[in-house]
Amino acid sequence: MNSEASNLSEENKKNSKNFIELIIDDELSRGKNNGRVHTRFPPEPNGYLHIGHAKAICLDFGIAEKYQGKCNLRFDDTNPIKEDVEYVDSIKADIRWLGYDWEDREYYASDYFPRLFEFACDLIKRGLAYVDDQKSDEIAKQKGTPTQAGTHSPYRDRSPEENLDLFQRMNAGEFPEGSKVLRAKIDMSSSNMHMRDPIIYRILFTPHHRTGDAWKVYPMYDFAHGQSDYFEGVTHSLCTLEFVPHRELYDWFIDQLKTDDYRPRQIEFNRLNLTYTVMSKRKLLQLVQEKVVDGWADPRMPTLSGLRRRGYTPESIRNFIDKIGYTKYLALNDIGLLESSVREHLNKIADRVMAVLNPVKLIVTNYPEGEEELLSTINNPENPESGSHPLYFGRELYIERDDFMEDPPKKFFRLAPGAEVRLKSAYIVQCTGFKKNETTGAIEEIYCTYDPSTKSGSGDQRKVKGTLHWVSATHAQKAEVRLYDRLFNDENPDGHKDKDFTEFLNPDSLQIIPEAMVEPYLLEANLDTKFQFTRIGYFSRDPKLSTPEKPVFNRVVSLKDSWAKANRG
Ligand code: ATP
Ligand code: MG
Repeated sequence: MNSEASNLSEENKKNSKNFIELIIDDELSRGKNNGRVHTRFPPEPNGYLHIGHAKAICLDFGIAEKYQGKCNLRFDDTNPIKEDVEYVDSIKADIRWLGYDWEDREYYASDYFPRLFEFACDLIKRGLAYVDDQKSDEIAKQKGTPTQAGTHSPYRDRSPEENLDLFQRMNAGEFPEGSKVLRAKIDMSSSNMHMRDPIIYRILFTPHHRTGDAWKVYPMYDFAHGQSDYFEGVTHSLCTLEFVPHRELYDWFIDQLKTDDYRPRQIEFNRLNLTYTVMSKRKLLQLVQEKVVDGWADPRMPTLSGLRRRGYTPESIRNFIDKIGYTKYLALNDIGLLESSVREHLNKIADRVMAVLNPVKLIVTNYPEGEEELLSTINNPENPESGSHPLYFGRELYIERDDFMEDPPKKFFRLAPGAEVRLKSAYIVQCTGFKKNETTGAIEEIYCTYDPSTKSGSGDQRKVKGTLHWVSATHAQKAEVRLYDRLFNDENPDGHKDKDFTEFLNPDSLQIIPEAMVEPYLLEANLDTKFQFTRIGYFSRDPKLSTPEKPVFNRVVSLKDSWAKANRG
């Protein structure tokens, strides 16, 4: 961090305001916009929202909330080729899920097509826009370089009358796609490449998901965005740092449009980039189309719908966004921080249950045959109000195969011949023997005796080193359990010049355990209950795959950050 950055972050911490809030405070103290604060979140409906968008959503809606202002939802739907109503619907569902409300302010850039067209005609009449008959690659060649001025198009000096006529005929469908564009007439020698007569309209024949085939010309993003802000009375147009060089053009259009003192102000902040993740919608779409993942909402995707299906809570995402903050400096954020945020929240709300992923039978030989008892276990020690749930104990149980060793090393505090362990929320048991399959050598059953005087919660103070999770073999239910690892095994899969990001896909990102044994309570609890499987992690029911006949649980996150440790070697 450079010194300016550290001063800035020190300053921010001091009054816990980010640099945008400091700007707004200052403006308000000067009475700007009559004290009005109005933001917008402007997604393009060409894909599902991802965690990066959550950073923008929390800022746009968060600022509005803090200053008793408003935040509009505006779909930036200026490119019919890539956009679809499926995306519009998913975007709305995701913003609501995150906990934000745009009330009745749901807008579409396409609603402004008539006004934008009229404004373009106005620019033409004022000699500030012209129709160029060149192909886009010719136009690009004439743009020059940052150190070298561009050259004027041979069509630059067409008369306003001719331009107006051509532009209207472009929109009437008289000219093929790609044959003509409308350009703003600004400055071909500007040091800002975006000011060198940018294209503002192109011809497209693809029908639009809202306006059908009413239009044959479509405004470019830069021509629609700022003007839409202006039409809506937006005061602060918050966007990511890539838009810094667009700001001059944003302001130029507003200058041509505005009739009084009011103007929207563009402010840029650093985007969210996460380790072990790709965040571009184009790349996420590729994963979906190539069926590398199970759709946009695959639990390994960084999409909000994927995180939701995985079992993330909106609170955990908002907390994560809060922790990383908003600055003017590019960063690559550690995915471990996102995982620790969800761990922190689930620790507070998840019911503690037991599930055995790789079961082996444990027979309590001194427990009377045909009998059983009902024990009770606390749902969540972090939350006294969470209550408790019943737990069956009897002669036949399941424990994890890994929790037994015939011939253990010294510090193995789990089960082994002669060893004692506590069965969580039940009794202390001592291993008395086991049965092996004679041909395969696999352990088939383990035998133990229990000490009835050691019932959990009964005040027995005898301590043993290990505590194991278990389930009653008679009452356990079968469930599919899905364990996830990161989708990519490289910290920055997008950051390699000579390698495609798909080369870094982690082949082991999904492990399916078809038949785990779980407590019956898991299937009785509410569908959206979050669970902590003792010693295994936090889990949540998969809303897409789970059925009453075949429940499916996703691991949201492990109990500890084992990845960081493993990677440190
Ligand atoms: P992508 O590059 O993934 O296609 P985009 O920027 O084109 O994303 P938009 O739908 O235009 O997607 O984004 C809507 C808003 O979300 C914009 O204001 C954009 O700046 C913001 N945004 C997009 N990605 C991020 C990110 N990684 N971090 C923070 N804000 C983001
Ligand atoms: Mg964009």
